[in-house]
Amino acid sequence: MKKVKLHDKQFRLFIESENITSKIKDLAEVINHDFHDKKPIFLCVLNGSFLFASELIKRFNYDCEVSFVKLASYEGVQTTGKIKNLIGLNDEIKNRNIIVVEDIVDTGNTIYSVSEQLKKHHPSSVEIATLLYKPEAYQKSIPIKYPAIEVGNEFLVGFGLDYDGLGRNLEDIYIIEENN
Ligand code: 5GP
Ligand code: MG
Repeated sequence: MKKVKLHDKQFRLFIESENITSKIKDLAEVINHDFHDKKPIFLCVLNGSFLFASELIKRFNYDCEVSFVKLASYEGVQTTGKIKNLIGLNDEIKNRNIIVVEDIVDTGNTIYSVSEQLKKHHPSSVEIATLLYKPEAYQKSIPIKYPAIEVGNEFLVGFGLDYDGLGRNLEDIYIIEENN
């Protein structure tokens, strides 16, 4: 069984790259069907979505645009530490069909905040495509229409996802070991 160590923690192989690619291909077929005439903008949330974004978007066979945004900690009076500003966004999304491309949706706090901020720019529609989705942890009501892979609540790394900065380059997805 393949294992990796990142910082102080051990991880073991969970989803092999061939399996990931095949799930992304399936998702791309659905998105091709739903968006062939919609000239969507794929709005990729950095950093975690970069590998998923490339594997997904290269399989979209119609006109589309690609853009990248990042979440930055809010530097205002509020000190909750939870509020994240979406940076890199402009009015190009007005009246457009947006597909947000995420690495993982867990509680949904991040994606909720992203979609609230997008709404202010008046897109025609916003849908969520995510490599990984944790339905048992999800606490929001906005639909996650395009998950590639549903998983449990364990902490995962690889294929763009990091543990404290490391592991994004792994081509497979790894799960944290229980005895860490
Ligand atoms: P949410 O706001 O949906 O609770 O969590 C989203 C963020 O939490 C993700 O963008 C990611 O940064 C982090 N996250 C949640 N679950 C995992 C996981 O299993 N592995 C990694 N590497 N990050 C996770
Ligand atoms: Mg993320």
